[in-house]
Amino acid sequence: MRIALIAHDKKKEAIIQFAISYQHILSRHELFATGTTGKKIVEATGLSVHRFQSGPLGGDQQIGARIADNKMDLVIFFRDPLTAQPHEPDISALMRLCDVYQIPLVTNLAGAEVMIRALEAGFLNWRELLQDEQE
Ligand code: PGA
Repeated sequence: MRIALIAHDKKKEAIIQFAISYQHILSRHELFATGTTGKKIVEATGLSVHRFQSGPLGGDQQIGARIADNKMDLVIFFRDPLTAQPHEPDISALMRLCDVYQIPLVTNLAGAEVMIRALEAGFLNWRELLQDEQE
């Protein structure tokens, strides 16, 4: 599964701890991230992560483009709801595309915990079946 990981600055520590906790699951998937989030996850875990631009510089849009191309299966996005983001339009556009293309999206740690367990249990395998159908 192709998984996008994104965290706003005040949520970086949380996503690092999440990635450390679930490294054994994440390591079996293809990981993508916005620039700084990816860098921090790689430094903390050694996981292999394809890094896009930093979010404010277009990283969210790059992930959105992959969604539109059916090249992303899951988005784990640790949003900070209490701080204004300069790239709010990009964030909204990314979440909108998840809704357009039926891409599972979680926007906080509690959702991410559920999602990673669902992933591990195989509840998201329908994404792979779809992918096989389209090839
Ligand atoms: P960053 O981007 O991982 O490069 O900090 C995340 C964001 O703010 O959207």
